[in-house]
Amino acid sequence: MKLSKLARTLKPSATLAITAKAKELRSKGVDIIGFGAGEPDFDTPENIKLAAKESIDSGFTKYTAAGGIPELKEAIRNRILTDYKIEYKNNEILIGSGAKHVLYNLFNVLVDKGDEVLIPAPYWVSYPEQVKISGGTPIILNTTQECGFKITKEQIKSKCTEKTKILVLNYPSNPTGSTYTKEELLEIAAVAKEKNLIVLSDEIYDKIIYSGEQHVSFPQLSQDAKDRTILVNGVSKTYSMTGWRIGYAAGNSDVISAMNNLSGQSTSNPTSISQKAAIEAFSGSQQKVSEMLIEFRTRKDFISSFLNNIKGVKCYIPMGAFYVFPDISYYFGKKFKGKTISNSIELTDFLLNEGKVAVVPGIEFGSDNHIRISYATSMKDIIEGTKRIKETLEKL
Ligand code: PMP
Ligand code: GLU
Repeated sequence: MKLSKLARTLKPSATLAITAKAKELRSKGVDIIGFGAGEPDFDTPENIKLAAKESIDSGFTKYTAAGGIPELKEAIRNRILTDYKIEYKNNEILIGSGAKHVLYNLFNVLVDKGDEVLIPAPYWVSYPEQVKISGGTPIILNTTQECGFKITKEQIKSKCTEKTKILVLNYPSNPTGSTYTKEELLEIAAVAKEKNLIVLSDEIYDKIIYSGEQHVSFPQLSQDAKDRTILVNGVSKTYSMTGWRIGYAAGNSDVISAMNNLSGQSTSNPTSISQKAAIEAFSGSQQKVSEMLIEFRTRKDFISSFLNNIKGVKCYIPMGAFYVFPDISYYFGKKFKGKTISNSIELTDFLLNEGKVAVVPGIEFGSDNHIRISYATSMKDIIEGTKRIKETLEKL
């Protein structure tokens, strides 16, 4: 059958593909350590699971409003108000089947063919693909490890044309773990105002911050910043609820209403049971979130210092999220069994086949000099996996 032009150009999600490959090898009995997907290894907290069970037992198992139930919108509004002192109304909140789905809807209701969307690199794999699906043009803003993987106001200005519509921000960042200070965000907000950009602020890692400083949410910066921002977040990372598929957008009511229509014509509603569970996640005890952060911090400290002690590896110390993104380009040009390793895909294949450790090539995030390692996995696997990386690289 002849596929559409879109289907023929669409790339699979590299993060999901690597994870599936590692699982398949494991099912065949190969001892693989998986550093692929950004998926916390912790179980979903008990109080959240209980809320889901109660939802099933009480028969809350039917269609809901397309954009989510009012009680969950209220729980989200209260969470944002408590954490960031930002006020939204119910008609400024949309709940979708994960933040990925929310972002997909956002690009589709905002972007017309030819509109340009600014995406800082290294970026999360799905942004450029989703922009392309919506008919837009991704415009990449490259950053360097030396500059903490941060974009500057000059850079934004230099890439703006009359077609530029949206600036995507993601901090703490997947894949680098970099984040912005309030002063840096204020500068970005000033350019966004000057160039009249919509800011799509994906803050899904807002609770996983190591600096000790409070995360600053973009709409917190000023009334103007709030008016031009669509805030995106969800339960996957903070509450270890990746499989429950709940994400949300908060912002301009026209945008929210259009997304509501799109959901109504495509996915109907996010799962009723997961919505009840998410109410408990946002409104119940936040104790588990702090406990998970302590564990992530221990892993981050270990993994970044271990990697920085491997010859030729340069690893930025993350400020948040649960990824490290080391520069491994020192190994390009080196040979194994007569074959030269020349890019991040070949290095990743070498680590998988020779070292039995699965990581994601940096090129998928827009930076071929790097690989991404997710440390949302057990300390035992981190110790074994990083040892394998070191020993395998030493073979080159
Ligand atoms: N944004 C970023 C930056 C991510 O890393 C992810 C990966 N899970 C998502 C959005 C999507 O999350 P989910 O769909 O699980 O809510
Ligand atoms: N966002 C996670 C990651 O980057 C999960 C996989 C995905 O949604 O792409 O690994």
